[in-house]
Formats: sequence, structure tokens, C-alpha cells
Amino acid sequence: MRQTLVLNAGYEPLSTVTLRRAVVLVMQEKAVVEQEHPGLQLRSAAMELPVPRVIRLRRYVRVPFRQRVPWSRRGVLVRDRHRCVYCGRRATTVDHVVPRSRGGTDTWLNTVAACADDNRRKADRTPAQAGMRLLREPYEPSPAHALLLALDPREDEAPLTSWLSQPRSLSLPLAA
Ligand SMILES: [Zn+2]
Repeated sequence: MRQTLVLNAGYEPLSTVTLRRAVVLVMQEKAVVEQEHPGLQLRSAAMELPVPRVIRLRRYVRVPFRQRVPWSRRGVLVRDRHRCVYCGRRATTVDHVVPRSRGGTDTWLNTVAACADDNRRKADRTPAQAGMRLLREPYEPSPAHALLLALDPREDEAPLTSWLSQPRSLSLPLAA
């Protein structure tokens, strides 16, 4: 996957994002293309776009780059793309892998998105005790994730997310 450099509104480099994310940011008018890949175009039925090598945010964002990303319930849901870690269905709740009653804490590595059914089923037990398996391991989001959260606080509600979570629908052919 091609990576696109993201500059803050003041031109300082922030991060890289996937080409797909860069295109979305430009289409949402959150960023402008500063530099294109010469001779490359993204084509779909509805549009043609230059392939952005560098984009710049229209609005200045403050990103806690050197800090760790603070934990939040919403952050856990966004990190896990609202998919239940136990069954893959839509998740609306946050589950503590090690329950709080057993000393589990509100941390990135101890919390996962879960559907209400699985959260209830697991109850006050560890996954092993409940006989449940995590489909993916929780992780602490990187600064790049924090950047995206800062850019798009309602990402979980926007149609954008369903688009991003289905890579096939963005199979824009790259034509030279
Ligand atoms: Zn579930």
C-alpha cells in the first residue's frame, strides 16, 4: 500500500497515512493535495483524482505526538472499528478482558470492543474462564491513530467508516 505524507496546516510533517485514507481526507475537504505522484491517477466510475504523495490539512491539529494516547471507551471502539473482538459482529460496548472486579484496568491492552451479547455472556470472567477466544489482540494506538481520531472525532458514525472497513469497495484501479 502506498503511503501518503500528511502535513499539518503549518506545513510540518505529522505522519503518513494509507493512500486510501489520504484520498478520503481530500474528498472530505479536510486536506489539500500538495504533491502528486506524476502520471498516476485514481479512477472510479464517478471521478478521477491525482494520486497524492503529500497532503496538507486545512485546519491545524494539535496531536500529542510524544505522549501516549489517552485511553477512552470511544477510542477502544474506534480502534476496533466497532467490531466485536469475540464474534466480529457490530460492537457497541467495551469489555474488560480481565474484569475490573479481578483487578483489570481501563487500559488499551485490557479493553476490547464487544457486542452486548458477548459482553453479557462473558460477564465477570476472563476469556479463558468463559471459554471465549479473542479474534485479535488489543493494542495501544499509535500516534498516527491519534491523528486520525483527532481529525475525525465522529469517524465511528460516518459512512466513511463502512467504506474504509471494506477495502474492496475502494479498489480504485491505478492507471499510469
Ligand atoms: Zn460478539
